[in-house]
Amino acid sequence: MPAAMHEGPIDCAWLLADPGAEPAQSDMRIELAGDRIGSIAPLAHKAAIGTGGPRLLALPALANAHDHARTFRSATLGAFGQPLESWLPFLGVVPGMDPYLCAATSFARSARHGVANLMVHYTRVQGGMAYADEAEAVARAARDVGVRIGFAIAMRDRHGIAYCDDAAVLSALRPGIRDAVAERLAVKPVAPAQQLALVEEVARRIEQGGHGGHVTVQYGPTGVQWCSTPLLEAIAQASADTGRPVHMHLLETRYQRDWADANHPGGIVRFLDDIGLLTPRLTLAHCAWARPEELALIAERGATIAVNTSSNLGLKSGIAPVPEMLKHGCRVAMGLDGMAFDEDDDALREMRLAYSLHRGWGYDTTMTREQLWAFASGNGPRSVRGGLARGGRIEPGAPADMVLLDWDALDDDALFAETDPLDLLLARGNGSHIAKVLVGGRMVVDGGRVLGIDEPALRAELLARMRAALAADAGGALSWRETVKALADDLGPFYRSGRIGGCCG
Ligand SMILES: [Zn+2]
Repeated sequence: MPAAMHEGPIDCAWLLADPGAEPAQSDMRIELAGDRIGSIAPLAHKAAIGTGGPRLLALPALANAHDHARTFRSATLGAFGQPLESWLPFLGVVPGMDPYLCAATSFARSARHGVANLMVHYTRVQGGMAYADEAEAVARAARDVGVRIGFAIAMRDRHGIAYCDDAAVLSALRPGIRDAVAERLAVKPVAPAQQLALVEEVARRIEQGGHGGHVTVQYGPTGVQWCSTPLLEAIAQASADTGRPVHMHLLETRYQRDWADANHPGGIVRFLDDIGLLTPRLTLAHCAWARPEELALIAERGATIAVNTSSNLGLKSGIAPVPEMLKHGCRVAMGLDGMAFDEDDDALREMRLAYSLHRGWGYDTTMTREQLWAFASGNGPRSVRGGLARGGRIEPGAPADMVLLDWDALDDDALFAETDPLDLLLARGNGSHIAKVLVGGRMVVDGGRVLGIDEPALRAELLARMRAALAADAGGALSWRETVKALADDLGPFYRSGRIGGCCG
């Protein structure tokens, strides 16, 4: 069940109400008014050690503008070191599990690391039940953990194995795996109208289940190379009609860049604009290989870019041109994409890694602290919740979404009283410093522990079930794993040969 509303004031040794834009304030009291911030005022006395817990540093909660509610980590599945194109098939090497267990354990990790709003681009259906039932299980998991989610139904209708017709890539694979790969991965296209109807059905179920307050249902075309033009056009029209947000990958890797240039010579971003998809309702994950003129158009149309720094490093995709995005005025938000640097969903470390890469070399500043905070906290809620939602500030009237860090642990040297808390946060802050997390006035994490669910018990249950399923299916899952390894090996030469360019329309 969801955690209770927080009672009483929150006293903190330091408050970063609008990090990067306003200086930190010492010894402050925050009063809540229901799910919102009520008032903020100086404490009559100093926030003292020994008053029932550590001294606290309060900051706005973080947002995760691109993710998939994956529960099993990439290296565990044997996919470490694979580029995206060879990594994707590894997601299917374990059987589907109970969707509530998977989502709850994934959301709990996010909440423990300070995230209040997070995106779920639901590309991995666990199966075993009707889709709408599964979506509702994910919504229940979000409610019980206490986070808000954007739930984008993954939509696609082509190119199940590589960025070309399935038959073309199958003929390039070693013969021994072709049948198995075709059976598991070749696309069985579903008509656009049917895919849109599923989105409506899920949206109805979410409303009926009472999850409308914390779940925003979205269209989730997986990417241009995976979606036919009629499907993308239908989604653009439906989004215009319903106002629902759209969440899609774009230009994640060099091979997607090659494919886009070969198949959309007029420009892939221009194409999205021409079909009416490039709107303020759209979030584009990655854009790591976008060009300046494409970024300018994305900025002009008001779409959001979700940058996934660790994921782009982990999948060897590259480093997104964040300074260029900012220079063009793009709204840029942080995504973790299920692959934080330590595979632990640590959003604080993710923020620091992005800042280290993009703040500028030497005396140059290419990403300010204010821009960093908009990236990590302010802009993400819009991708998750749609409309004009934003985060990033602790101020009266704003949603009571806060992370409370153990200040004494963060400043464990305690030599200089005037040290800027934001300096220490950006130098060394990570999930281990988080004492409490509030989302909408509810205390969802306390003492580093998620309150709404028994996370260790659910995780143990999930792992036990997975081990049992793997043991029962020793032939099936294990031999599929071997097939995926062979497929990953064969895809390397396929992509390197440049055969994806122009092999399909
Ligand atoms: Zn992704």
